[in-house]
Amino acid sequence: MNETLQPGTSISSGPGTGGGFYSCRWLEGGLCFSIGALRACAEIHHGRGEPKLMDYAGGPLDFDGICKAKDEIHRQNQQGGHPACKGCPNLVFQHWPARTGKFDWIGITHDARCNLECNYCWLQWADYAPRHHSALYRKMRYNVLNPIGELLAKDLLKDGALIDWGGGGEPTLFDEFDELLAQFSRRNYTQWLHTNGVRAPAGILDGTTDCSNIHILCSVDAGTPETYRRLKTRDEYQTVWRNLLLYRRRGAHVVVKYIVTEENCSRSEIRCFVQDVERHGKPLVLADIDHRYPDVSTAIRAGLAFMKLTVWSSGLDFAFGETGSDSYPEKQIPLMVEKSFRSQWPASFAELSYRLRHRRWIASVSRMLARGLVRVYEYFF
Ligand code: SF4
Repeated sequence: MNETLQPGTSISSGPGTGGGFYSCRWLEGGLCFSIGALRACAEIHHGRGEPKLMDYAGGPLDFDGICKAKDEIHRQNQQGGHPACKGCPNLVFQHWPARTGKFDWIGITHDARCNLECNYCWLQWADYAPRHHSALYRKMRYNVLNPIGELLAKDLLKDGALIDWGGGGEPTLFDEFDELLAQFSRRNYTQWLHTNGVRAPAGILDGTTDCSNIHILCSVDAGTPETYRRLKTRDEYQTVWRNLLLYRRRGAHVVVKYIVTEENCSRSEIRCFVQDVERHGKPLVLADIDHRYPDVSTAIRAGLAFMKLTVWSSGLDFAFGETGSDSYPEKQIPLMVEKSFRSQWPASFAELSYRLRHRRWIASVSRMLARGLVRVYEYFF
């Protein structure tokens, strides 16, 4: 938190009256269908986050209850912080627009079924994961088609609302996924699909779903089928790249994520990964860390820096963070990674190659030069 309100300050001076107060876009307009509950967001930070609004197992939505639960979270956030929100980088003090009662962000992460076993995912490591309590999770399963239909029928979804699919559990396996994906697409809502890419939805395969407002975020995390299998237990490396290329060809915006860990941070692994990025439609590369280990080791930091070097020298787009590292802003991980990147002497050539990426023949010359220098660097350092 950047500023402190006096204890007891009421939020009634905030929403609707133009006063400043602590909040975030999710508390203002978010609703997350989560496992066994409705939550305000799907943000994890410092091992906390996702404030619960109420238990939920499907059925009609209690808008009054949702509003009251948010009011209580708001009240606590003005007085030191609700336990789930305390320390969240999204919680900021500012003048928030008056509420309209409509939602502009819907999270759909109510089902934990998955067709992979990524070793960094809570489904594998948490003692509360479904694999240890399968009967309980089966009981908590519910349908989101009706409540979302209710939101649409009551005109409670803002134009341009963002639909955020998944984030623990593979959304393309959700019972109502294909139908809702197409429905949101027809209504022109922006959709972010956090998918492992193993299954391509029917509407993408047959080209009937308009993908212009669909963003795919897929964590590939490997540059070879062997490493992929070791991290995720299944042999789907090529399938995933094929599907990502298909999404790209259908007009979706694709982001490939790489969570850099001790197991996949070698230079050869990263080089192979970047080659596959080039071969499969050149999506944006998003590197991050495993959010459980914010104290990054030298090897992981070097891997992240080398990834940026390799991606930029190939004239591709690179971004860092978003989940793992952003969960701990006080650790300043992006700054550390940037410093490591700059400490590699071909960094300025890689940057030049990236900046010139749209300049026809100059782009290919600078790319060749930058890549060659990166190989020299690899050889000697
Ligand atoms: S955890 Fe963060 S993003 Fe979620 S509601 Fe609280 S402040 Fe907002």
